[in-house]
Amino acid sequence: MTRPTLAIVTLGGCDGCLMSIVDGHEALVELLSVVDIVSSPLDASHRPLPESVDIVLIEGAVTTEEDRAHLLEARTAAKTLVALGSCATYGGVGGMRNLVADDAEAAVYGASASRPQIASFVEAPALVVDVDVEIPGCSPSPERTHAALQALLGGTELAEGRRNLCHECAREKVDLLDHSAEFVSDAVVALMELEEIDAKRCLLEQGLLCMGPMTREGCGAACTSVNVPCRGCGGPSRRDFEQGAKAVDALASVLPAGALMHMEDLTGTAYRYALPSSLFPAMTTADDEEVRRD
Ligand code: SF4
Ligand code: SF4
Ligand code: SF4
Repeated sequence: MTRPTLAIVTLGGCDGCLMSIVDGHEALVELLSVVDIVSSPLDASHRPLPESVDIVLIEGAVTTEEDRAHLLEARTAAKTLVALGSCATYGGVGGMRNLVADDAEAAVYGASASRPQIASFVEAPALVVDVDVEIPGCSPSPERTHAALQALLGGTELAEGRRNLCHECAREKVDLLDHSAEFVSDAVVALMELEEIDAKRCLLEQGLLCMGPMTREGCGAACTSVNVPCRGCGGPSRRDFEQGAKAVDALASVLPAGALMHMEDLTGTAYRYALPSSLFPAMTTADDEEVRRD
């Protein structure tokens, strides 16, 4: 029997999502026993992407025209296109680069006439394709990645929900659920400012800025379960939510106004992983529509 084919295409990312495949250990051995990997950056022979592949995993975001071309090629080749990680799903951390690109370039190269033309600082190309499966996270855990791949290969539904992270976070929420409570916390504090962290109570109620209420479930509350506030790498809980706007909206309703002033880097806090996808409708071009799939 012919085995399904799988390819991995990397765009502008950090390779961390590739590690979520490799770190699957036994699950990786299981994967290799049921698919043929036909093209991958992990493959030393650098085989090009074939014209047709059953499953193509995309890691990283479109940050250059070259990335854009590779993504279009992948969409054409793939029967199933999978966005692996928050860069591929929402644009990711690199999606904020154009906000600081000029300053960063000037800081590194100054006004030198020999300043190189830096490809990665070009205007971010429009996002271009629809994907069939999303595996969010920066990076997604190996368990999450391999569970999604197994579901895909087994033809079963992906079981992940679209509620917010607070639903799967085991911390006790009292004021967060009490609509008569004026605020859940009087101030926002940094993790190191807390003399003691209550290991059971909601971190937002302890004054720590947690993105759980505006972030999609699915990671098993990996950070909050070890006393670290969620940074939002799971992206918005619903596709029609702007995660950053939702963050300001939600936090403004549970924190006093002065507390929000602690969000000195509003974009970096509220839009850390999903700024490009928040702008997506405005960035899609007519040409792009031709390669989109229902
Ligand atoms: S989602 Fe995170 S881990 Fe994955 S490529 Fe992007 S920055 Fe790296
Ligand atoms: S700690 Fe964060 S994720 Fe957990 S209940 Fe509180 S706000 Fe939600
Ligand atoms: S808790 Fe938040 S930041 Fe941490 S892995 Fe889950 S979604 Fe990402």
